[in-house]
Amino acid sequence: MTSTSSPPDPGLHALFDSFSEFGATAGGGVHRLCGSAADGQARDLFAQVVRDLDGTVRTDAVGNQFGLLALAGRSDAPLVMLGSHLDSQPQGGRFDGTLGVASALRVGAALVRAKAAGTAYAADLCVVNWTNEEGARFRPSLLGSGTYAGHHRAEAALAIRDDDGVTLAEALAAIGQRGTDPAPALPACYLELHVEQGTVLEAAGATIGIVARNWGATKIEAAFIGAQAHTGPCPMDLRRDALLAAAYAIAEIRAIADRWPGRVHTSVGRIRVDPNSANVVPARVALSVEIRSADDSVLGEAGALADAALRAAAERARTGLSIRDRVERPIRPLPEDVCDLVALAAEETGHRAIRMDTVAGHDALSLLGACPTGLVFVPSVGGIAHNEAETTSPADMQAGLAVLLRAADRLCRAGGEPARAIRGDAR
Ligand SMILES: [Zn+2]
Repeated sequence: MTSTSSPPDPGLHALFDSFSEFGATAGGGVHRLCGSAADGQARDLFAQVVRDLDGTVRTDAVGNQFGLLALAGRSDAPLVMLGSHLDSQPQGGRFDGTLGVASALRVGAALVRAKAAGTAYAADLCVVNWTNEEGARFRPSLLGSGTYAGHHRAEAALAIRDDDGVTLAEALAAIGQRGTDPAPALPACYLELHVEQGTVLEAAGATIGIVARNWGATKIEAAFIGAQAHTGPCPMDLRRDALLAAAYAIAEIRAIADRWPGRVHTSVGRIRVDPNSANVVPARVALSVEIRSADDSVLGEAGALADAALRAAAERARTGLSIRDRVERPIRPLPEDVCDLVALAAEETGHRAIRMDTVAGHDALSLLGACPTGLVFVPSVGGIAHNEAETTSPADMQAGLAVLLRAADRLCRAGGEPARAIRGDAR
């Protein structure tokens, strides 16, 4: 390739639109939970596209799909890995995850063409679709990439149940995606393109976000244990109402964010009420609590306040409290040389880039620390995300693809090493 900007790729939009049909909602979004029939259709298309490029698909035990494209012409070539996820939130957006996977597949097509035209590559390309990034049906999120990176055991991940008691293993088997292939070894570099899901790029008037650091997160799975009773005759002073405890906790956890305006984000995004009947004082309420911040000491303090808020809510409503799970995602920088490579790719393709934080978790963060890892953002119109109205403009989709392609081309020529890719050294 030359140093002029890449021509637009109409194939990206066609492929993206094809993925968007699987689990399409009336409101213009997608409802494509991990392991659903719609997820199966999206996975089948992923595999078909890889095979059409003469690639091979490996599906590992937790359903991660790896599309391997031989570019280097030798069996021990290092890997450059690009990807994201095809599962969505309930009534979610079309772009979240899917833009990264579709773009990675189009990069694969371009590099296969370049190889056929005589370009010498020193690394192979692997396009990946990670299982259950969203954590919507199976908790925690980032499950497939986290298993690949060694943060979870595959057997433990497969045994996780959704709210209907279906395990991940059963859900994957039902769509023919419980694989037996070995996952490829860790890549020489992993790059992920994703929509920003915030408003930083729009506000800055930039097209490309180079993620230089991630916010930390504390995620708590808690349950209040009350006593089931009749909502009519049971005297008020005898009630041990688990939903009331949750209500006290939810309001207090919101108030924690107000102590550090703009620096702490808190939420309770999910509650499950049992038995959830109009005439029954709830016996048990499970809730998912999140606290996020870019400041370690603030995150620690806010997390302690959330713990205290849960305990105080249980005491006030006279219920028990059980903490089922607590996940801490540390605040970390992304590798400087990968950020520099993305900055160079943006410059070469004529797109204005800024360095920024990611507040949301992404599969790239699972791999951070395991191999050189980069995360690239394109703007989300109005910052709308996890919503059917989520949109990224066609021009920004093309910009993201062009930057990903340029970075991947440099990496594959250089055997996957980011510093070498910046210098333009062939392997
Ligand atoms: Zn995502």
